[in-house]
Amino acid sequence: MRIDVLTLFPGMFPGYLNESILKKAQELGQLEVHLHNIRDYARGKHRVTDEPPFGGGGGMVLKADVLFAAVEAVLGWAADGKEQEGAGDREGAPPLILLSPQGRPFTQRVAQELAQHPRLLLICGRYEGVDERVRQHLATDEISIGDYVLTGGELAALVIIDAVTRLLPGVLGAEGAAETDSHASGLLEGPHYTKPADFRGWQVPAVLRSGHAAQIARWRRQESLRRTWQRRPDLLLTAPLTEEDRWFLAQLAAEAGEE
Ligand code: SAM
Repeated sequence: MRIDVLTLFPGMFPGYLNESILKKAQELGQLEVHLHNIRDYARGKHRVTDEPPFGGGGGMVLKADVLFAAVEAVLGWAADGKEQEGAGDREGAPPLILLSPQGRPFTQRVAQELAQHPRLLLICGRYEGVDERVRQHLATDEISIGDYVLTGGELAALVIIDAVTRLLPGVLGAEGAAETDSHASGLLEGPHYTKPADFRGWQVPAVLRSGHAAQIARWRRQESLRRTWQRRPDLLLTAPLTEEDRWFLAQLAAEAGEE
C-alpha cells in the first residue's frame, strides 16, 4: 500500500515510521509512505500556507489554494481539474482523507476498510483547521481518531497508518495474528500470560498449560466474551455470536444476578 501524507511537519513522522512493525512493513514492500510538505506547494516569496479566518476570530486557517495545489501535484492532476498525461483519473483516485475531529470515528472496521485500498492520501490540518472548501470539494472522507482535539493531524495520520499497516498481508508475521486482536471480530481480546507460570503466588490459569488446544480455544473465547461483557457490553449488540456464546453470556448474567 502507498500512503501519501500532506503535512506542514514531515519531520514528525520518521521516528515512528522507521521502527518496529512499520519499518518491517516497508522493508517487506507492503508499505510505502510518501511525506509531502504542504509549504512546498505555497506560492510567493514567503510561501504562506495559512491566513486569518474571514469574519474574524482567533487562529489561522490552512488555505484552500495551497492544499488543492498539493493534492493535485501529488496525484498528478492538472490544476483545472483535468488529468495530466499519464496520471491516474479522478475516478480511480485514492481516498482523500482529511483528518478532523469532526470526521467519522476511526474504528477497527474503518481500518479494515482502508486496508483494502492500494493507496491512501492523508491531509493533516493545523491551527483552526482547513478552509471549508477543502472538506467540501477535495476530501472524499473525513476521519476523527477520537472525541478530543489535537494540535494537528499528524498523530491522527500515524494512528491510521499504524492500524491499517498491521492488517496488510504478512506484516504481523504469524498468519491471522490481527484477527484475534480486540475489535477485529467485534469483541475485546481475552487476557494473555507468559513465563513465569507462578509470579508472586499469582498463577497462570491451568488450562493454558494443559496443552489441550480445543480447551484453550474455548477458554480464550469465553474470556473474550467475559471481558467484553464486563467492559464494553455495547459491543455485544453487534458482535457475531454463536449459540454457545449466547449460552455463556446468559450464564454470566445469571451469576451476576441479572435477568
Ligand atoms: N478548530 C477545529 C475544530 O474545532 O474542529 C480543530 C482544529 S485542530 C486544533 C487542528 C487540526 O488537528 C485539525 O484540522 C485536524 O487535522 C487535526 N485534529 C485535531 N483533532 C483531531 C482528531 N480528533 N482526529 C483527527 N484529526 C484531528
